[in-house]
Amino acid sequence: MADTRPALPPLRDVIARHGLAASKALGQNFLLDEQLLDRIAAIPGPLRDAPAFEVGPGPGGLTRAILRAGAKLVAVERDRRCLPALAELEEAFPGQLRVISGDAMQVDALTETGAGAHIIANLPYNVGTPLLVGWLSAEWSPLPWWQSLTLMFQMEVAERIVAKPGTDHYGRLAVLSQWRSDAKIAMKVHRSAFTPPPKVMSAVVHITPKPAPDGVQLKFLERLTAAAFGQRRKMLRQSLKGLPGALDALEQIGIDPQRRAETVSVEEFVDVARILSR
Ligand code: SAM
Repeated sequence: MADTRPALPPLRDVIARHGLAASKALGQNFLLDEQLLDRIAAIPGPLRDAPAFEVGPGPGGLTRAILRAGAKLVAVERDRRCLPALAELEEAFPGQLRVISGDAMQVDALTETGAGAHIIANLPYNVGTPLLVGWLSAEWSPLPWWQSLTLMFQMEVAERIVAKPGTDHYGRLAVLSQWRSDAKIAMKVHRSAFTPPPKVMSAVVHITPKPAPDGVQLKFLERLTAAAFGQRRKMLRQSLKGLPGALDALEQIGIDPQRRAETVSVEEFVDVARILSR
């Protein structure tokens, strides 16, 4: 079948033509390999006519790949220098792309995309974790407004998201990411794939939501994990002593208070939080 996708100039030319020298302060590490970008855009599954949201399109590499996959995309970019390059993509993919000039931390993605959106981004490192925590903390009834998260993080953050109990990376972010979602590393990306290359390796994390366990309020799970991992080397007996009802809940469920937070499974945290939520 003939390829009907628009012919686009190489990303290197776009960067040169629009003077997009990478800014460290804005976390700019660009991906220019279009095959790699198409592979990232394929991670959420078929995107034809699906709503999608991208943070930080920059010169538009991942943006092109998402548009080639057929999504209806809203992209929020803070660096105004990128807007002319992104306007060229709006023209090349008529009706498929809307660019918002602004700070993704201030934008209500649900209002912009509507429910059911796939969120796909090579995130700037300085706002990546707060954005993720915001999406994971959304209303869940029975699922959140977003359909999937496909997000590039520094490897260390990716490992904290998918960590299992008993490992150094296991902590609050793992519990928040896994108690009502499946989270996995979908792809490791070598630092040399970026321009300029960052100091560390990166990984794309893919998160899909599940119905939330019954009777558990997020705020109690948050308080519980904050207390437990706030003193992660201490026994639960010590770290949870200031949290009303927590030690009784451990006893009811049969969790040994001599254990440390890093040995407690996500399901066990959920069971304790359910009792605290009553
Ligand atoms: N998507 C491009 C790519 O993959 O080559 C660029 C990714 S680069 C790691 C991060 C992008 O996020 C940059 O374009 C940067 O200007 C943008 N950015 C940084 N902080 C932002 C914020 N608070 N809101 C929206 N965009 C932001």
